[in-house]
Amino acid sequence: MTPERTLELADHCVKCGLCLPHCPTYRLTADESESPRGRIALVQGWLGGALPGSAALFGHLDRCLECRACELACPSGVAYGTLLDSARAHQRAHAGPLRRGAERIALEILSRPAGLRLLGYGAAAARGLGALRVASWLTLDRSRWLGPYLRLLPFLSPPPHATGTGPLATDTERTLNLFLGCVGRISQPRALEAATRLLARLGWRVRIPPDQRCCGALFRHNGFPEQADRLLAQNASALAQGPNLAIASACAAELRFSGTGLPVEEICAFLGRIAWPETLSLRPLGLRVAVHEPCSHRHPLGDTQAVYTLLGRIPEIRLETLPENAFCCGAAGNYLIRQPKMSARLLADKLRWLREQQPQILATTNTGCALHLAAGIREAGLAIEVCHPVELLARQLPAADVGAVTEPT
Ligand code: SF4
Ligand code: SF4
Repeated sequence: MTPERTLELADHCVKCGLCLPHCPTYRLTADESESPRGRIALVQGWLGGALPGSAALFGHLDRCLECRACELACPSGVAYGTLLDSARAHQRAHAGPLRRGAERIALEILSRPAGLRLLGYGAAAARGLGALRVASWLTLDRSRWLGPYLRLLPFLSPPPHATGTGPLATDTERTLNLFLGCVGRISQPRALEAATRLLARLGWRVRIPPDQRCCGALFRHNGFPEQADRLLAQNASALAQGPNLAIASACAAELRFSGTGLPVEEICAFLGRIAWPETLSLRPLGLRVAVHEPCSHRHPLGDTQAVYTLLGRIPEIRLETLPENAFCCGAAGNYLIRQPKMSARLLADKLRWLREQQPQILATTNTGCALHLAAGIREAGLAIEVCHPVELLARQLPAADVGAVTEPT
């Protein structure tokens, strides 16, 4: 997007300030430059030529989570997410080649199957060698450059080998593609397995298209729109034979709303709207389960209610909302690595609520949030399991049904 078009988007802002109370970074800092209105003014000043592209100005833009809570609150319909994505692309274009290259390499590692395998096996090897104790020590101070990475190691595993098809249902019309996401493959293999098992039990044949790639959101939100579009095009080809389900809400949002028109649905929304076999009774779960609502699920996907409705199918479950779900947990793609201090402050608020609420399980639909929250819970010494809602549902399938496939209803 050209600077002129970016400025046009910014011009929709009437500077009313109604978005300010909804912005997590403004809430923590009470600094106008850390607010949506302030950031829009900075972009206008910079791209309009009134302000230099200083490190301080870019720092304010970098600390934006792109949670888009401001967009939801804005009465003037400012497309804040698109505006900031574009500003970041201009910012990257101004960065030196070394910095741009290093950022690009880091993102490429995450978006490529070989890079993910390397990370997954590396994490498993570190666990095997007992290196996590060293990692824990290093992560005590998140400002150390390795700290933000190392705290995630306990939650990464080698990616599952499964490609191709899952268990068979009897009606091939009822076939769908499962989109795994990049980091989800190595941080949530149980959710992937649970989704396949649950869908098979509900009479759906699951395909895992081998050519699928990272959804591209990491690139788009870090100022590399061409790479994001390239990945989207690859996914559009891999997922051409829909319908498609994404397990991570952020991937679903990126694939659906980034201009490809790909028919991709977030898995809980799908499971909430299809018919379940009348004979299927889930096993009771007498535990307190808090629901975390990721920003990508609240907006742009919307309909987080489907998660509550679905989990409400489990008898005896004690379902609760995690307070202040409207505020980002600080994961925000790779924000947890790029901005470890601000990310930790946002996480601290979530941990405070978890300490107060004391659920036994925390359910969340987004991979990055699950990783960040699980790391924070571990660091805080809390006994709370973090999982995807489909894991809970699959776990409560009747014992005799596990792995079985039924006739479609
Ligand atoms: S609510 Fe919308 S119009 Fe008002 S300051 Fe925020 S972004 Fe600008
Ligand atoms: S996207 Fe989130 S962090 Fe960024 S300005 Fe809007 S509300 Fe604040």
